[in-house]
Amino acid sequence: MFTRYEGVAWEERFLPRLTRKQVKELPKEHALVILPIGAVEQHGDHLPVMTDALIGEATLTDALEKIDPAEQIWLIPPIAYGKSNEHLGIPGTISLSASTLAGIVSDIAYSLKASGFRRLLLFNTHGGNTDLLNVAAREIRIATGMMVFSLSPASLGVAADLLPPEELEFGIHGGDYETSIVMYLKPGWVQEHCRVREMPAMNRYRFLTLEKAIRFAWKMEDVSRSGILGDATRATAEKGRIIQERASDLMAKAFVEISRFEIKQLLEETSAGAAMG
Ligand SMILES: [Zn+2]
Repeated sequence: MFTRYEGVAWEERFLPRLTRKQVKELPKEHALVILPIGAVEQHGDHLPVMTDALIGEATLTDALEKIDPAEQIWLIPPIAYGKSNEHLGIPGTISLSASTLAGIVSDIAYSLKASGFRRLLLFNTHGGNTDLLNVAAREIRIATGMMVFSLSPASLGVAADLLPPEELEFGIHGGDYETSIVMYLKPGWVQEHCRVREMPAMNRYRFLTLEKAIRFAWKMEDVSRSGILGDATRATAEKGRIIQERASDLMAKAFVEISRFEIKQLLEETSAGAAMG
């Protein structure tokens, strides 16, 4: 018995389970296609290298189960790998180059456009992919005319009241947030006794940050000895459950809004307002 693609999300919303005839006949006016992009990269001694890809698939699976069956929201096979060259050379890391990842994402977009789809969501669970995907999204918009969206569950702010300020600022890799989620999703995949706390020595800088307005380029070995940033020792499965519940609720609603979004309306409404004024 093969059990990988089970449950509502994978039985009802997995686009490639359909035949070509079924895909052809789908109503596409409001259809949204979701492309998950993760990473396979070292996450310290306690988390599996699959962490980012795993969190992405699990959050999407939960979110898609919460959506009205009538909505045209479709999942395509996840790209497990991401641009992880900041971790390259640390065992277990499998990285795509920037040009490879950009090429894969745009090839998938062109293919969806050729099948008649109009909306693509780049659903990303690895911070190192973000800048590249924002560039790719605009390139695809200009080259194909598709409406392209991006969403990172870690940016939704759903853990803001669950984590201390230091963790919210520096806990960007294998810390409390990710460890709690994986402890909830796959407790057997976490080496709990290997959890550590490591924060970057950034206190002396007033302006410089890792990822905010004024930043420096870094690879993981520049900023962390353990390979993580954050406090994994505070992680609990219960916190992970709350984060996943909130993120999937918010995403389910956001997906429906995205599938209703029509970019042309922006100007129509602006000109109507301008004419009235
Ligand atoms: Zn991660």
